[in-house]
Amino acid sequence: MDQSPEEVWKECLDVIRDNVPRQSFKTWFEPLRAVELEANDDVRKLTIQLPSRFYFEWLEEHYHALLRRTVSKVLGPEGRLFYDIVIERDDIQRGYEGASMHLPARQSDHRPTDGDDPPSFPRPQHPTRSGGSDAMGSYLQESDVTNPFVIPGIRKPRVESQLNSSYTFERFIEGDCNRLARSASWAIAQQPGATSFNPFLIYGGVGLGKTHLIQAIGNYVQSRRSGTVLYVSSERFTSDFVHSIQHNRVNEFSIFYRNIDLLVIDDVQFFGGKEKTQEEFFHIFNALHQTGKQIVLSADRPPKEIEGIEERLLSRFQWGLSADLQTPELETRIAILNRKAEDDGIELPHDVIEFIAHHVKSNIRELEGSLIRLLAHATLHKREIDLPMAKEVLRDLIRETRINLTIEEIQRLACQYFKIPEDLVRAKTRKREVVQARQVAMYFSKQLTQHSLKTIGLHFGGRDHSTVIHSCQSVENQMETDPKFREMLDDIRHAIELRSR
Ligand code: ADP
Ligand code: MG
Repeated sequence: MDQSPEEVWKECLDVIRDNVPRQSFKTWFEPLRAVELEANDDVRKLTIQLPSRFYFEWLEEHYHALLRRTVSKVLGPEGRLFYDIVIERDDIQRGYEGASMHLPARQSDHRPTDGDDPPSFPRPQHPTRSGGSDAMGSYLQESDVTNPFVIPGIRKPRVESQLNSSYTFERFIEGDCNRLARSASWAIAQQPGATSFNPFLIYGGVGLGKTHLIQAIGNYVQSRRSGTVLYVSSERFTSDFVHSIQHNRVNEFSIFYRNIDLLVIDDVQFFGGKEKTQEEFFHIFNALHQTGKQIVLSADRPPKEIEGIEERLLSRFQWGLSADLQTPELETRIAILNRKAEDDGIELPHDVIEFIAHHVKSNIRELEGSLIRLLAHATLHKREIDLPMAKEVLRDLIRETRINLTIEEIQRLACQYFKIPEDLVRAKTRKREVVQARQVAMYFSKQLTQHSLKTIGLHFGGRDHSTVIHSCQSVENQMETDPKFREMLDDIRHAIELRSR
């Protein structure tokens, strides 16, 4: 009976640890502390402190049953759980000081009505499909173009957010694969800078929705006019920084960024190895974080696997919350296809949707690509879309899963195409043409075989899985920006398909 609240909570944690995935445990339970244990007659009440209202909602929504079971196991059937919710603002280093709210945990399975579902938004009339084609435009609106970075106080800067307005929450389909990332994004969009998720980092493979989701936060905040928003890719940040050095404007660069209320940086893995840029970003990060500004980042892998990032920056990436995006499950793939078809104003028979969803598994961008191909074909031939047409137009998808290709065969064909000796793709060399052949061969190994990233890496001279991810991503990026490259890939794919039939 003389246990301290910490001891009791530790027992609870032991139970919880066995019942939830490790990542969830670390995110939702490990940071919590017990603050009080009261015992009246047979009723024991444990109070734990939650860092924000969002934690409260998340726990009640997702872990209510588990918490109830745990508490009755540890405290007995009359045990009760209470939450102290810190109304945070200045909890920069997890001080958790300030006002707090004391709430009991739910005793029944009745769900609170104020869930975290986004309200429905008016849909834009003419969604832009371009995916940020104006990325090289200025951050600043017309009148400021001559002066790319404006000193506050001298002239009020108007910052062009660089957001693509079609990336909204409303258009983002929720599924098990993205639930944590989406919910946390939503919470941050409500109160940028005021949750404990600062910075917030979303990571995951190519085409899984990172850019969409981080821009959705930006678009939402911007629509509420609750601060200056800037979306920038890490490459753009880097090249602007280099430009500012060359033109003696580092100071302006730095002041410009410190003025942003919500800074969204995409693909931070490209900061790897760029020391000066990292240093500048480190200072901007600190300045923003200390003044309660929100930082949102994306990366193609978990922070600790990003190569060439300084330790102090890595540790800051981990201050807030990291959430991953997984490949979508079948139901989510179907929901996304239905939604895209609806957005495009077309009706697709259910068997066509299922056909695509069954065959395109790894990537939402490819899911969209298949739909676009089908639409283009139907328009061109003035035919209704049906299953035979889908099978015809998307036949390479079916073949992909049927053919029994080996990684060695792919390596051989890619090397033949690039006219290099085959063993070089497995060697250490970083010669340009070898790197290209290697990346392309990795990409097709990922696309056309069932092997895991790890196995693929091993076949390429024992490289690790993050190298494979990186290679696939750079092939996809080039494919998007360079039509010649795309044609070349089509040729190679064709060669592989011919040989492997
Ligand atoms: P990433 O940045 O992870 O490579 P993107 O954000 O560019 O991926 O997403 C690729 C495409 O898939 C985009 O057109 C995006 O709108 C779409 N997409 C990704 N996830 C979802 C989702 N959950 N619901 C609807 N569309 C999605
Ligand atoms: Mg992206």
